[in-house]
Amino acid sequence: MQEAIAKLYDELMAVIAGYPERYLPGEIQRAFELAKKAHANQTRQSGEPYLSHPLRAAVTVAKLQIDTPAVEAALLHDVIEDTPLGIEELKQRFGEEVAFLVDGVTKLGRFRYRGVESEVENMRKMLLATAQDIRVIIVKLADRLDNMRTLDSLEPDKQKRIALETLDIYAPIAYRLGIGDLAGDLEDLAFPYIYPKEHRWLMENVSARYEERQKILESMMPLVKEELSRAGIEPLEIHSRAKHYYSLYKKLLRYDMNLAKIYDLVAMRIIVADIAECYRALGAIHAAWKPLPGHIKDYIALPKPNGYRSLHTTVFGPQGEILEIQIRTPEMHQEAERGIAAHWAYSEQKGGKAYLERTAIIAPRKELAWVAQLSNWQKEFKGSREFMESLKIDFFKDRIFVLTPKGEAIDLPDGATPVDFAYHIHSDIGNQCSGARVNGKIVPLDIRLKSGDVVEILTQKNKKPSEQWLEFVKTSFAKNKIRDALKKKGGILRETPRTREAEFAVSARDRVGLLRDIASAFSGLGINMREIMSKDNAQFPIIAIKCALPAEIEPAKLVLKLKKIKNVESVSYKLK
Ligand code: MN
Repeated sequence: MQEAIAKLYDELMAVIAGYPERYLPGEIQRAFELAKKAHANQTRQSGEPYLSHPLRAAVTVAKLQIDTPAVEAALLHDVIEDTPLGIEELKQRFGEEVAFLVDGVTKLGRFRYRGVESEVENMRKMLLATAQDIRVIIVKLADRLDNMRTLDSLEPDKQKRIALETLDIYAPIAYRLGIGDLAGDLEDLAFPYIYPKEHRWLMENVSARYEERQKILESMMPLVKEELSRAGIEPLEIHSRAKHYYSLYKKLLRYDMNLAKIYDLVAMRIIVADIAECYRALGAIHAAWKPLPGHIKDYIALPKPNGYRSLHTTVFGPQGEILEIQIRTPEMHQEAERGIAAHWAYSEQKGGKAYLERTAIIAPRKELAWVAQLSNWQKEFKGSREFMESLKIDFFKDRIFVLTPKGEAIDLPDGATPVDFAYHIHSDIGNQCSGARVNGKIVPLDIRLKSGDVVEILTQKNKKPSEQWLEFVKTSFAKNKIRDALKKKGGILRETPRTREAEFAVSARDRVGLLRDIASAFSGLGINMREIMSKDNAQFPIIAIKCALPAEIEPAKLVLKLKKIKNVESVSYKLK
């Protein structure tokens, strides 16, 4: 067993050594030593030493050429959940960054997808929002890939749940991040658990055909080389790639399950030096073998929404067999394999210009806007500090996603409290809420929740909401429910709310947006405006606002806020 660990460790170190400019082997070794100590004597369900799992995840991450903290986080991703080692100790030994990444992966581990299709898109977004950093997602994908490889050692209903989550949530995220190969592997591993019959059918009918196609392609490679060389093109590499099984199955569904109509079962891939050569190679191939009409695809001029670029063509080969050929540059190949990871690699070298051009292509597709946003981090990239900042996912600034103890994700506005959460679940739970536990700890009811928190509400029969809650709840839904419950309680909610009638007079030179700014000064403090009048007889127009001023708000505070607005000359007020 130790042999297996040593072998995996060597494999990891060999990958690391391949990118000396990117990785610090000493640091990674240190993380390995800690993982080894933390998981000592633990075994996987399959019986193998536990350590093999984080090691394989680390190899996957390392191959994507991310950075040292990401590989360290992959090695340490299960220590918080599964060993006595705490996040504080991790912080002390490996610094904030690694601890933050490990914490993020631990949080993602609490999600449970219930298999409800209408929740899929939200689930994916919640995962991204909770992760906060693209590296957290990548470590999680590597973790999931290894769990899928060893899924057969779990009980059947667990297998099914994890496979479905992989198919519906994780593989699509990998696709959108452009890491197509990883996405395809995840799908292929989930396929037999979710569609066992279809998978068996495919295996029985396709395996022989794969081999046959492979042979045809291999025999054609020297001929292709010859044709290219005649056109003065020296390809950097020619290889073949087999289509992933699940993606083949999905394609077959569109083609009446007719295998004869699938031309890219195995495709030939030609890597050439630059874009101009891509087109010249395409010309040379078409000159030698007739293309199948309607099957020439220029994903260089028109990249796929996830950024994929290549030229694809389908030709009649030497014996009349139909073959797909893909032509691309090394850069496009890197991108296709590593997706978003490739971008931060080369924008680091080139200042992100190539990247920006691509975002412009991605952006107009509305349903993918969040991917574009997600990738936007690179735009301002300059030094390593900004680089770190740019890895953060902050496009859900005003929303948080918290979890029920069952792992169901709940979407709330930023600043929401356990009471908001309780009312969101059910108004009875809200009304009977007597306390809350966040991540296992009892907390005050007015605490601000954070994305990824697991929230549990403690209830008490016959308990009634407290009037005080109105002062800190964030959602209007909770506010209304609390008010309703208080009224039912017997008019305890005073009919004379604690407000004073006030009138503010703002003298200002008019401009576009002035009224909006004044109104938002009021609403920003939670003040209801009753009436707005304007009087034009002074040197400047005067805007008079009648409002109900809550008792706890000092009118001077509002005056100061109003005076800061552009073009405002003076402010006065009267209390009634
Ligand atoms: Mn794991």
